[in-house]
Amino acid sequence: MVEYLSDLEIANRSEIRPIQEIAEKAGIPKESVEPYGFYKAKINTQLIDAPVKGKVVLVTAMSPTPAGEGKSTVTVGLSDAFKKIGENVMVALREPSLGPVFGMKGGATGGGYAQVLPMEEINLHFNGDLHAITTANNALAAFIDNHIYQGNQLNIDPRRVTWKRVIDMNDRTLRQVVVGLGGPFKGVPREDGFDITVASEIMAVFCLSRDIKDLKENISKITIGFTYDRKPVTVKDLGVEGALTLILKDAIKPNLVQTIEGTPALIHGGPFANIAHGCNSIIATNTARQLADVVVTESGFGSDLGAEKFMDIKARRAGLEPSAIVVVATIRAMKMHGGVAKDELKAENVEAVKKGIVNLEKHLENLKQFGVEPVVALNAFVTDSEEEVNFVKQWCAERNIKIALTEVWEKGGEGGVELAKLVKEVMDTEQNFKPLYELELPVEEKIRKIVQDIYGGDDVVFTDSAKKQLKTIKDNGWDNYPVCMAKTQYSFTDDAKKLGRPAGFEITIRELIPKTGAGFIVALTGDIMTMPGLPKQPAALNMDIDENGNAVGLF
Ligand code: ADP
Repeated sequence: MVEYLSDLEIANRSEIRPIQEIAEKAGIPKESVEPYGFYKAKINTQLIDAPVKGKVVLVTAMSPTPAGEGKSTVTVGLSDAFKKIGENVMVALREPSLGPVFGMKGGATGGGYAQVLPMEEINLHFNGDLHAITTANNALAAFIDNHIYQGNQLNIDPRRVTWKRVIDMNDRTLRQVVVGLGGPFKGVPREDGFDITVASEIMAVFCLSRDIKDLKENISKITIGFTYDRKPVTVKDLGVEGALTLILKDAIKPNLVQTIEGTPALIHGGPFANIAHGCNSIIATNTARQLADVVVTESGFGSDLGAEKFMDIKARRAGLEPSAIVVVATIRAMKMHGGVAKDELKAENVEAVKKGIVNLEKHLENLKQFGVEPVVALNAFVTDSEEEVNFVKQWCAERNIKIALTEVWEKGGEGGVELAKLVKEVMDTEQNFKPLYELELPVEEKIRKIVQDIYGGDDVVFTDSAKKQLKTIKDNGWDNYPVCMAKTQYSFTDDAKKLGRPAGFEITIRELIPKTGAGFIVALTGDIMTMPGLPKQPAALNMDIDENGNAVGLF
C-alpha cells in the first residue's frame, strides 16, 4: 500500500519564501507590511490605496462528514490553479480555532499539497488575533460585572446580562457557571456562561466591520443585557467601546501568509459557520480584492450554513457579489448520505453514492436560488472507485452542471486546473446575484423562508421563550436585521442524524439572540451549542513536540 505523508510532514518539507517576497509579488506597498517573524505579516490596510474590484469566488460544500470534505483544501488548491492559468489571484481564509484543532475536526489550513504555510503556527496561536478577540470579549464581561459591583448606575438586571465570557477551547464544563460568589467583596453573584471565542459577537463584529472606525462604532452598539425595566444596555452606555477597540488594534490588520505554491493568502477572522456567520473578515476580502483580480474565499460547511450567511449577511454588508460558486463534494459524503456507516466509507458502493447524491442536488438547487451558477469540485480521494466517480460525472452532465474531478490534495494547483477553467467560464458570464430575503421581512418570516427554501422543511416552530424574544426584537426595532441561523452542519434539519435530503420536517427555534453590534439576530435551532465539547479521543492525544521544538502529530 502507498504511504501518504501527513499534512504537517508535507508542510514541513515544502519550500517557504520570506514574507516580504510574497508581499512584493502581491503588489502590497512595503510600508504596509508588518512582519511577524519570517513567514507571516500583518498588513496595514490604511496604506493601500486601490479600488476594490477583484472578483470573488465562493467555495462551499455539500453537508459534510465529521472529518470535513476538503473545502479549505479546494479553496487553497483552486487559488494555486488560478495562478497556474495566469490569473492574478489571492486566497482569503478564516483563522483556525483551537477548539477543533485539539478536538476532532482538525485545523483550517487545507491539506495535502494544497495548504497554507506555516501551517503549525497558523493552526496554533497565529498572530494572536483569537487571543485579542477573547481578551476584548472578557474585558467587556469584567467591565459589566464591575459596573454592577460599583453601584450599578445603569440599573442593569444581573439576571438579564446576556453578554457571556469566552475561551478558544472546547470546554463543556464552562457552559453554565455562577460568578461573583464569596460575599460582598467578591462581586454580585449571577448566572453566567462561556461560549467558544469563534461564536463571540466580538468575532462577528470584527469580521463584519470595514475599518477601525466602523469596528468601534459597531462595538458601541453591542447589547450586553437589559435593565430592571427591560431596556437594552449597550457598550456605549458603559463607555468602553474605545478600550475594547484598542485591544483589537493589531488584530484587525489582516494576516498575510502563502500557499505551498507561493500564492498570497490573507487569513483573518474565524467565526464558525454552524453557530456564527462563518466567513473571514470583510477587511481581508476587500483588501484581497484591491490587490488581485480573483479572490477565492470560503464559507464554513454547506450552502445551508456558511454560504447562506455569506450571501445574506456578509455579501450584503460588504456590498460584494460572488462571481462564481464552487461546491465541494466527495464520494465518501455521498455514501454517508446514502446510508453507509462511518467506518465503511472507504469501500466501493455505487448504490450508496446514487442514493446519497440527493444531498448534493439540494445544495446545488439552493445556490441557484442566489442567482449564481454553481460548479461542482469533486474532491478526489484515493479510495474513490472509477465507477463511483463516473456516476457522479454522468449525473452532473445529464443536468448540465459543470463538474471537475479535483486532485489538489494530491497534486497541488496542477490538480485544480480543470476546475479553475470551469470557474473562470462562470466568472466571465454575467450572473444575477441576489440575497434570499429582503431585510424588511419580519424576523420570523426570514427564518421561515430559510427553513422552507434552503433547508427544504415544511415550517418553523418557535418555543415559548423564542416567541417572547421575538416580541423584544420587535419592541426594540431590531426586526430589520438579517438572521444568523445556528444549526447542525450534518443535516438540512435540526437533527444531525437525518442525512440525505430530508422532507416533511419542522425546524424548532429554541432561542433568538439579538446581536446589535454585529447587526444580526442569532436563531438557535434544535440542540446546537455555542460551546462545543471535546470527543472521547480528542486530537490532542496524538500531538507532541520533539526536543528541537517541532510540532508532531498536528494532523
Ligand atoms: P473542510 O475545510 O471542508 O473542513 P479541509 O480542507 O480542512 O476540510 O480538510 C479536512 C481534512 O481532510 C484535512 O486533514 C485534509 O488533509 C483532508 N483531505 C482533504 N481533501 C482530501 C483528499 N482529497 N484526500 C485525502 N484527504 C483529504
